[in-house]
Amino acid sequence: MKLRFLLPLLVIISACAGNRQQSIDYKQVKLADRPKNIILMIGDGMAMSQISAGIYWKGVGHSAFEHFPYVGFHKSYSCDNLVTDSAAGATAFSCGERTENNRIATLPDNRPCRTILESLEAKGWATGIVVTCSATHATPASFIAHQELRAFSEEIALDYLDTPFDCYIGGGKGYFNQRPDKRNLLDSLRKRGYVVHTGFNFNSLPLDGSKPFALFTYDREPPTASAGRKYLPKATSVACNFLDKRSEKGFFLMVEGSQIDWAGHANDRNWLRAEMLDFDKTVQAALDFAARDGETLVIVTGDHECGGAALTKGENKREPHVKFTSRLHTGAMVPVLAFGPGAEKFSGIYDNKAIFLKMQEALISQQ
Ligand code: MG
Ligand code: ZN
Repeated sequence: MKLRFLLPLLVIISACAGNRQQSIDYKQVKLADRPKNIILMIGDGMAMSQISAGIYWKGVGHSAFEHFPYVGFHKSYSCDNLVTDSAAGATAFSCGERTENNRIATLPDNRPCRTILESLEAKGWATGIVVTCSATHATPASFIAHQELRAFSEEIALDYLDTPFDCYIGGGKGYFNQRPDKRNLLDSLRKRGYVVHTGFNFNSLPLDGSKPFALFTYDREPPTASAGRKYLPKATSVACNFLDKRSEKGFFLMVEGSQIDWAGHANDRNWLRAEMLDFDKTVQAALDFAARDGETLVIVTGDHECGGAALTKGENKREPHVKFTSRLHTGAMVPVLAFGPGAEKFSGIYDNKAIFLKMQEALISQQ
């Protein structure tokens, strides 16, 4: 009974309506001994400078990032490069293995490595993926597919038929129904019992947990947050509540702010600002669920830094002025923020692949 984890005075209704994140004292939330659920949130290309700028853009004291009681750093390199790409970076989190850049949950000898999503799904957990890119993009793919190269988008889409999952919200519908092989993988998913929809009508989904679903928000890559894309925070809440109903054992949800990285490659600080503010709201949505639930471990990190971003003095002395030194990823360590039962395991400096092991350890008594 989850209510027993709720302190009676946990939510102090603020006199200032609408400032909800200020009304919860996250240090006072009563937590279970071990997590039942894990929400792994990846800001692609998000490291110290992106998080710093995000906090300053949001306004100090108002950012969801400031609520995390435990902070660590991971060393983001891949097995063949100090500077990882998102495929090897996500494979380190999903499999606990360092692999070569461009590999999707496969080892350097091309053997597939089992992902945390696959192993928990097989043990009866509910699993989900919520992203602002295509389903076939490197980060989500590394949790569900096994391919030698991240560029094999058509094959990655096929892998969604081999690995059971409970919910997907994100772009990339075209990889499933506008294919060179003429197959319609949306129909294949429907035959496997999935509710498959397009758009943003969350109420049309089986929110009671009765059926698995895939909600495709766009045909290919979703637009930027500054161009009006705003489904990620709501999709994260919907996925948490759905997955919670879907299995008694617990759930694993991977949420990605996919385009923080793209803003870095483009050296576009306005794009970065919009993506960081969107991801901040998304992190808040996950924290809201976790604080109510008491049995959910929330981990927020990036796979690598992107853009060699620095905060320099701008014309407006109170505004962060982001300067980029590269159009590529860099090798800087990446912050890891954790809240919930097991969060203390995430302080310190460790390998990116240790995040997988720490998630496994946190869940151990549940398995
Ligand atoms: Mg990504
Ligand atoms: Zn990138």
